[in-house]
Amino acid sequence: MGQPQSKPSKPSKPRFPQPGDHIYCERKGGLYDHHGIYVGDGMVIHLRGAAKKLGELPACHRCGGKRVENGEIAKVCIDCFLDGETLQIYDYGVPVLEFISRKRGTCCTSRSKPPHEVISAATDLLERNGFGPYDMFTNNCEHFAVYCKTGSKVSYQILGRIELATTAAPAGILAGAAVAAGYGASGSM
Ligand SMILES: [Zn+2]
Repeated sequence: MGQPQSKPSKPSKPRFPQPGDHIYCERKGGLYDHHGIYVGDGMVIHLRGAAKKLGELPACHRCGGKRVENGEIAKVCIDCFLDGETLQIYDYGVPVLEFISRKRGTCCTSRSKPPHEVISAATDLLERNGFGPYDMFTNNCEHFAVYCKTGSKVSYQILGRIELATTAAPAGILAGAAVAAGYGASGSM
């Protein structure tokens, strides 16, 4: 009878994205994370407003002939998207209490659309360049990814910043206001 083997606990379990997943990573030295939609075949569609200011994407053999750029939206390989950072997967449909306890911009309580609808929403926005110009507060890479997943434009990392600045405001009120604003914004698109 052997002793049960205790597995070494890793700081974070590696997770592999499935097509239609909302993925994100930290950006070196940045206050904000970068978000995109994994569309399968090693490719990610994302709103790359911040990267645009840095000029053209560097050449990449893995992107091959699959890379597409249209205005500020681009489809690139996962290596180009991550730029050396660790891949994280954004969770949908999390319980409210879990949402409140987790870092803003990593999960939300809304349910995701089915993967094929998420991928077609991201692909359609890329083909039409249909998301408008990047704006950190109203039209950022998280707004883009959450919109593809749910049809609502919300950025929780921005809400997190607001919560830090206004400690008296409960998260639920802010989130509700942002969702309402998101519906207004998407309705006019
Ligand atoms: Zn690439």
